[in-house]
Amino acid sequence: MHRVYNFSAGPAVLPEEVLKEAADEMLDYRGCGMSVMEMSHRSKVYDTIIKEAEADLRTLLGIPDNYTVLFLQGGASTQFAMIPMNFMKNRKAGYIVTGQWAKKAFAEAKIFGEAVELASSADRTFSYIPDCSDLPITEDMDYVYICENNTIYGTKFKTLPNTKGKDLIADVSSCFLSEPVDVTKYAMLYAGAQKNVGPAGVTICIIRSDLITEDVLPGTPTMLRYKIHADNGSMYNTPPAYGIYICGKVFKWLLKTGGLEKRREINEKKAKILYDFLDQSELFKGTVEPASRSLMNVPFITGDADLDAKFISESKAAGFENLKGHRTVGGMRASIYNAMPIEGVEALVDFMKKFEANNR
Ligand SMILES: *Cc1c(COP(=O)(O)O)cnc(C)c1O
Repeated sequence: MHRVYNFSAGPAVLPEEVLKEAADEMLDYRGCGMSVMEMSHRSKVYDTIIKEAEADLRTLLGIPDNYTVLFLQGGASTQFAMIPMNFMKNRKAGYIVTGQWAKKAFAEAKIFGEAVELASSADRTFSYIPDCSDLPITEDMDYVYICENNTIYGTKFKTLPNTKGKDLIADVSSCFLSEPVDVTKYAMLYAGAQKNVGPAGVTICIIRSDLITEDVLPGTPTMLRYKIHADNGSMYNTPPAYGIYICGKVFKWLLKTGGLEKRREINEKKAKILYDFLDQSELFKGTVEPASRSLMNVPFITGDADLDAKFISESKAAGFENLKGHRTVGGMRASIYNAMPIEGVEALVDFMKKFEANNR
């Protein structure tokens, strides 16, 4: 068997242990004589799988009882519309634009009402998180929206914005379960699973339950109402059953390996290895302002497009996959999610050192 170091931004690396366990259970899930992929989502066996997944997620994140957990479909991108359809009661909301995903959510919200740009870091190609201590938030705004970790640009909010009492909604797709969070600071947080948690096709939404009501914008389709999914335990229709099963295994792996405090410690250590190298390198440089650096996505450049291309091709040949930066920004990006072992980051830095010595 051959496994590479996979630095993909998503779908991304998953814990080997989880993949092996899923492989062992592929043909016969615990004596059922069928795969989880083949079983009814209404079966007792599957009911246990989804309930355990939710319970383990609640334990991991310390989700309070007054928050609802939903396993939905449609990717994070569907949330860009569901959020205004369900929560933009005054048809006005504030958006902080810190990258492509925030920009897309902002554009989508404009379909439904007045989406106001509260702050932006577009002036320096999204290489930092703007000061969000005193934003022009008005009384009539329904919520304040952020993308907490910017997958493409490699920035992360180190402190949450001052929302002046307004509900905070956060896209945490690429930092979900990378460190502990205080769920009570959010009205809603959500993540597409394929960055840090599981296979594509599952979106996890954690929503303060009092916000989930019948009172949605006129014309909101049934499938895009949170209430329908909440009332039916994420089983209004067929859920992304196999994906949820894998997410459940990842939750168990995180619990078993010390939970989110331990995970933060490991993630900080991993990111430091890479950032420390970038800070002293004469060839490579990080593109993000140090105070805004993500622990999960680390973009870097040489400053020479040909040399970048050479690095990407040589690193691939050496077993480091998916280091090419996002198609809209170029350069390189190493995504070092939970399942990337520390050895993978060490090996990458060793490779970068050699590349630097050979290309002075
Ligand atoms: C990948 C990503 C998305 C888009 O996710 P889809 O599941 O493809 O819709 C949205 N937000 C963030 C932060 C992402 O990293």
